[in-house]
Amino acid sequence: MLSRLLVAVAVLAGLAMCFPAVAAAQSPQKIKALIVDGQNNHKNWPDTTKMMKKYLEDTGRFTVDVATTATKGTDPSFKPEFKKYDVVVSNYNGDAWPAETQKAFDEFVKNGGGFACIHAADNAFSEWPAYNEMIGLGGWGGRNEKSGPYVFLDDAGKLVRDGSKGGGGHHGPQHPFQITIRDAEHPITKGMPRAWLHVNDELYDKLRGPGENMHILATTFADPGPGKLGSGHHEPMIMTIDYGKGRVFHTPMGHGNDSQECVGFIITFIRGCEWAATGKVTQPIPSDFPGADKTSQRKFGG
Ligand code: ZN
Repeated sequence: MLSRLLVAVAVLAGLAMCFPAVAAAQSPQKIKALIVDGQNNHKNWPDTTKMMKKYLEDTGRFTVDVATTATKGTDPSFKPEFKKYDVVVSNYNGDAWPAETQKAFDEFVKNGGGFACIHAADNAFSEWPAYNEMIGLGGWGGRNEKSGPYVFLDDAGKLVRDGSKGGGGHHGPQHPFQITIRDAEHPITKGMPRAWLHVNDELYDKLRGPGENMHILATTFADPGPGKLGSGHHEPMIMTIDYGKGRVFHTPMGHGNDSQECVGFIITFIRGCEWAATGKVTQPIPSDFPGADKTSQRKFGG
């Protein structure tokens, strides 16, 4: 009798030991992210790839691979397996990808893949219509009225699509600027202060493109006054675009290493990537998030 009891106790103890394993199996699977880079007019791109990779990995929520093209020209061997990933982050602004790679990327997003477009990635591929639909708005690369309207908010917060003639993409001198949240209920922006001060960055204005199925979550005022030389419009700074079944997160922020050390940038970036991958956000707003008039910067330690 006693021995049976001991067996029962041993079985129960064994079961209890199993629970941690069961709990681990139930924790959410890691999100698979791929950063693409290799060509960029921003010479700090190896640094910013390293920074964005670490920001994602440090959450414990992501695994991150990097796919790098040759340094010049169309790289015929650049054929990442996009389908293996939940979200692709572009830190690429260079020559066209092989047609086969463009097609694979288009299909990846159309079929439900996530895409995060960061800063100069929206300068890339002005001649690739599908890419311009995905990013909503872009700049430079010969963009003009044929690329689509300028899209921004007016002083009343109303969406303006301005089809007037002119180049796409401009910025004045770098400076800190205040981000205004326009949709505080979206998973990416929920819980952020309604206004927060971004550290020194290029303020992209006059971006133009199809801007369809695009939702502007946050803007900044591009001050036209002396020294800042902006458009005088409230320019999109955090956007989402629906592309087929895919979710696209786009931020024109993130020019320099200092811009990418902004806690507002970091949190917007990891939440944007999580949303693009899953449609949900679990990453919290940390206590060192910037305030309306106070920047917050985390020095990158490598
Ligand atoms: Zn830049």
